[in-house]
Amino acid sequence: MSETRAPVIDIALVGEAVGARDSVAAAAVAATRTNIFDFDRASLERFFEEELGEKKFRAQQVMKWIHHRYVTDFGEMTDLGKALRAKLEDRAVVHAPQLIFDKESTDGTHKWLLGMDPKNAIETVYIPDKGRGTLCVSSQVGCALNCQFCSTATQGFNRNLSTAEIIGQVWVAARHLGNVPHQQRKLTNVVMMGMGEPLANFDNVVRAMSIMRDDLGYGLANKRVTLSTAGMVPMIDRLGEVSDVSLAVSLHAPFDALRSELVPLNKKYPIAELMDACVRYALRKRGTSVTFEYTLMKDVNDQPEHARGLVKLLREFDRRVQMKDAAKVNLIPFNPFPGTRFARPTDEAIRAFQKQLNNAGMIAPVRRTRGDDIDAACGQLKGQVMDRTRRSAEHRKRLQESGVSDAA
Ligand code: SAH
Repeated sequence: MSETRAPVIDIALVGEAVGARDSVAAAAVAATRTNIFDFDRASLERFFEEELGEKKFRAQQVMKWIHHRYVTDFGEMTDLGKALRAKLEDRAVVHAPQLIFDKESTDGTHKWLLGMDPKNAIETVYIPDKGRGTLCVSSQVGCALNCQFCSTATQGFNRNLSTAEIIGQVWVAARHLGNVPHQQRKLTNVVMMGMGEPLANFDNVVRAMSIMRDDLGYGLANKRVTLSTAGMVPMIDRLGEVSDVSLAVSLHAPFDALRSELVPLNKKYPIAELMDACVRYALRKRGTSVTFEYTLMKDVNDQPEHARGLVKLLREFDRRVQMKDAAKVNLIPFNPFPGTRFARPTDEAIRAFQKQLNNAGMIAPVRRTRGDDIDAACGQLKGQVMDRTRRSAEHRKRLQESGVSDAA
């Protein structure tokens, strides 16, 4: 898996890009009609039965049109019958995030800049690898957690994304890739590792993940949908009650003093409580492992004592879960961004850290940097956004090409 956190995009430019005409129209539509993208199967069936007075299976037909065939116009949903199509046109809409632009890297990594409203846009990144295709999805515009090494933190928190805006990222990418669930699987994994803290937007994230896993949605197996959290302990327990996805935890340090510095949320939920919650999550179902992400920062958390602390912590986790390798480690070399006080360790130091874990019998892959030529790797986009002049010109050119420029 690549470094795929999707940072916040320059707000003013996005307003310009989405365009007054489109956004006013979209807002008007959203105000009066229900966006079908906001529903998972259960809630869509309820909408059909209770609001439209229709049979449940109609909801299932609509889901297939949208998520399998990428049809958003009710008029084209030919197996629905004229009266129902008219009723849907009157009451509902299938409104996807607006594509502002997309770029492909020489290594096949692809990113989409998506406008959610005139003031907010996020990025979604696709990383193809041998036999798999992983999509990195955002859950919020900005983030409130203020992790010191994360560029999103410097942007502050704007708002939660709706279910429609979360699943809409999957829809845009899947459509672009020509993904056909159950047949032509371009999209095999989703990681909620984009911008934001997914557990701080619990209901919308859970509903969107339910569409990812539904056969009428994207048909992904539970373990192929991963939620990454900075460690919101009570919400990890809630997740365990309602969902069965893979859990990843951004650990970054084995000691409380250091972790509280890097991830301020640690002051509220220190490591011991976090590990307890991870144990509870793993014990719900036999064979569940938890991934611990560890961003390596030069001279901060990359020393032998940190590796030793990490081994001790994760061995204890394995022991409590009573499964070897119940704890998986993902080492992420830090990606610098303008203004940061952190640096990436040398390759040698990264290898030495990894070796120490390996010697203790732990598997600890180092996440490869992918898509850096299109600024799709962690922390890169902020730098690009800061160059407003170049970005403005680039945006205007793209808008002109796509014929939206008159509205901007
Ligand atoms: N809020 C969630 C999900 C988003 S962050 C969480 O904290 O898990 C997903 C990952 O991006 C984090 O694990 C973090 O390791 C990584 N990340 C953030 N900034 C980074 C940077 N500058 N370099 C490398 N990885 C970074």
